[in-house]
Parts: sequence; structure tokens; C-alpha cells
Amino acid sequence: MVKKPSTVELIIIGNEILNGAVLDTNSNWLAERLYELGVYLRRVTTVRDDLEEISSAIKEAIRRKTDWVITSGGLGPTFDDKTLQGVAKAVRKPLTLNKDAVEMLRDRYEKLKELGVIESAELTPARLKMARLPKGSQPLKNRAGSAPGALLRYRKTWIVCLPGVPAELKDIFTNELEPLIREKSITVKRYREWISVKGVPESTLSPHIDELLSRHRKVYIKSHPRGIEDGVSKVILEILGEDISKEKALESVRNAAIEMMDRLKTLGAKEILRSEEKPT
Ligand code: ATP
Ligand code: MG
Repeated sequence: MVKKPSTVELIIIGNEILNGAVLDTNSNWLAERLYELGVYLRRVTTVRDDLEEISSAIKEAIRRKTDWVITSGGLGPTFDDKTLQGVAKAVRKPLTLNKDAVEMLRDRYEKLKELGVIESAELTPARLKMARLPKGSQPLKNRAGSAPGALLRYRKTWIVCLPGVPAELKDIFTNELEPLIREKSITVKRYREWISVKGVPESTLSPHIDELLSRHRKVYIKSHPRGIEDGVSKVILEILGEDISKEKALESVRNAAIEMMDRLKTLGAKEILRSEEKPT
């Protein structure tokens, strides 16, 4: 039996996303990385920079007993950055000045002063705001910007707050969070193949996919219709497997893929391409 992988939910925070001014690329980037890591991303929620919205989204994720809740955005010095307040409210803890976070900010502003980017390295109230974390949090070092991330354990859930600026989110995720997720989670090994097929519409494929799935119990087959090109329908099939080892996942996927290729030939496909890379 393959153990169920740890669950993750993302909470994307920012008016700019819900107003259409900024495209949320953070959730897509995180989704890819979490997939590679072998955990199970089960939900992405987007909310405004609003205390109630943030705190209720976090409470709901905790109520679902999610192992990891990762937020993006709203860690900056301005009044509309309310993520830490929202987390504090959700877990009923006060915000307290975190000494390690203060040191991180001190280092950061001293460096920026040396570089001539800012005039004073003074830790103003706006700057110190970024070091006020929900009590019991551990700051996560930000090498690409100012606001540290935050890590907090609440009941069975790890709550992680990351900045919204993509370069900063990626930096903290890669250097600080990914090793923690690897260490503390149940993960699966994943393997995936793609078959691009022309000349067999999705509706014709559907019963064959169902039939294959009923026998290849360890794989999942998803069809992605790509419309009609030069009067011929195009469908991309994604075949994915999860197991305790990459070899096992690979074996199940390959067996299903080989059978699917044969099936497509008997269905009169005009062109069949199989690859490990996602086709365009
Ligand atoms: P900072 O400390 O730099 O203020 P922050 O955590 O407060 O970071 P936000 O103020 O929420 O981050 O966002 C800063 C900028 O990052 C936004 O204006 C936007 O350009 C970008 N950004 C925020 N969220 C996302 C997202 N989900 N996807 C892509 N870009 C984003
Ligand atoms: Mg900000």
C-alpha cells in the first residue's frame, strides 16, 4: 500500500490578484514544485488583503486537517499587508516582536545602506512591522528581499507565510521551506508520460480510458482536448503514476502507455506521439 502523501493548501493573498492587475504566478510555481516534491496540493484559495478573509481562510484549512498551509503575499511594511495579523487571529496568538527576525531585518537594511540604496538603516516602525510574528513562529530567512517568511505549528498543521514578490517567495521556498517539507512529510514518487494523438476525438477515447483505468489501478489518465487542427481533432493524454519508488511508478505508467498506444492505433489515430516532456 502506498501511504497517502501529506496534504498542502495554498492561500494566495492580494487585492491586486482579485482585481485582475496581477496574474497569480506564485500558485502555479508552487504547484509544480509541490508536485515534484511528492506531496498532495489539494486546494488553492485566493483572498483579498482583508483580516477576516485571511483569518477565516486559514481557519478553514486548519479545520480540514491540512498538513501544510502556505500563504503568499501581504508580509510587507505597508498597512494593507495583513497576513501575519490574519494568521495570529486564526490561531488566537498575539503578534510579538521576534528577535531573530529583527536581526534579519537589521542585516538587510545595513547592507542596503552600504550599497547606497537607502539613507538610513534605522529600524523604523514600518520596518519592524515585518518582525512582528504570531507568537511561537520561527522566521524564514529572505535572501532576495526584506520581509522574512514565518513558520508556525498549530495543532497538526504547519502554517507557512511567504512574501508575494515572486523572487522572494521562490528564494524562501527553495532555501528554507523545501528541506523542511522533505523532512516532515510523507511523500510519494511520481512519474508521468504524455501521449499526443490526432484523429481520435475525446468522446471516442473516453470509454477506452475508463476501461484501461479499471485494469491499471495504479495510474491516472487525464485527457486534455486541444481543439481541431486542420480538420483533425487533437487530444493530449497525461498518464501519471504514484508509488513508493520511482521505478514502480515508471513501470505502471509505461505498461498503461504501451497499451494505450495500441488502442489508439486500432481506433484509427492519424498521429501518435509519446513523450516524457509535456507536449505543446
Ligand atoms: P513585500 O515585502 O515586498 O511588500 P509582500 O509579501 O507584502 O512583499 P505583496 O505586497 O502581497 O507582497 O505583493 C508584492 C508584489 O508581488 C505585488 O504587487 C505583485 O506584483 C507581486 N505578487 C504578489 N502576489 C503575487 C502572486 N500570487 N503571483 C505573482 N505575483 C505576485
Ligand atoms: Mg507588500
